[in-house]
Amino acid sequence: MSHIQTSLPDMLVNFNNDDKCRAYLEQLRWPDGPVCPKCKGKDIARIGGREEMLRCKDCEQQFSVTVNTIFHDSHLALTKWFLATYLICESKKGVSALQIQRVLGIGGYKTAWYLCHRIREAMTRGTAAEPKLSGIVEIDDAYIGGKKVGLGHQAGRDNKTVIVGMTERGGRLRMVVVPSVKKEEIAKAVQMHVSPNVEMIISDEFKAYVPTLAGKFGKRYRRVNHSVAFSENGINTNSVENRFSLLKRGIIGSWHHVSVKHLQRYLEEVSFRFSRRANPYLFSETLLNLLTTDPLTFKALTKKKAA
Ligand SMILES: [Zn+2]
Repeated sequence: MSHIQTSLPDMLVNFNNDDKCRAYLEQLRWPDGPVCPKCKGKDIARIGGREEMLRCKDCEQQFSVTVNTIFHDSHLALTKWFLATYLICESKKGVSALQIQRVLGIGGYKTAWYLCHRIREAMTRGTAAEPKLSGIVEIDDAYIGGKKVGLGHQAGRDNKTVIVGMTERGGRLRMVVVPSVKKEEIAKAVQMHVSPNVEMIISDEFKAYVPTLAGKFGKRYRRVNHSVAFSENGINTNSVENRFSLLKRGIIGSWHHVSVKHLQRYLEEVSFRFSRRANPYLFSETLLNLLTTDPLTFKALTKKKAA
């Protein structure tokens, strides 16, 4: 695999025109040389004068690395796709569509907004197939709505959207929008994201957690006892609370307003980037996802009901 670690100055030199971008996409997609999409043949010629066009000598199929991909239908230059992907992958607290529009000199806000959502989608695609959280897992909920982001059950729940966060201590993060903090919802979130074989799972004493988690995990379930200091027993939900703060900084500092309809996508983005904070190849892996996964259509993105 030709995955690369890159800096912004390197980006500006190595990917400053569409030919260079396309050559890199070819490397990523076909590390052993181009393959015909129709017959899988490997005897491929370049069509004279048009570097990007390839021809299969076996079946005469003509193709390019971007044909039938997200990049093909787009009117945006590959250089802008590359920079937008880089900025989204590298911005720990997220980057707004408005900022992408301004920084990259993209004509309309809608174009920038759609671009960001497609990159976000490609970045996080495949997360659902990853192993569930294991080791020591902390679980807690947060409330998001209007301009206020609250932590804990006392933060006020009127007109707010509830999210449940689950994190491995020192490891990965998952966050989901839930209709309410009821035991069925907690059970569902845990079932989907937490391995039944965790070493320990920790929550606070809120009533929705206790019977659900005690029933499922037995003695491996521990609840925070606020009368005992953190340093004394390590039973706390500090990690998950810190992740909520990260989300909050993204919403307040970068995105400013996140609609409930799209909130889950932002949660996926924050979780994904956080979980891969030690992965230096995020940029090239996201590019490869953009090349190889079904694109998110504008219709799907803007339909009334959240995907
Ligand atoms: Zn062929």
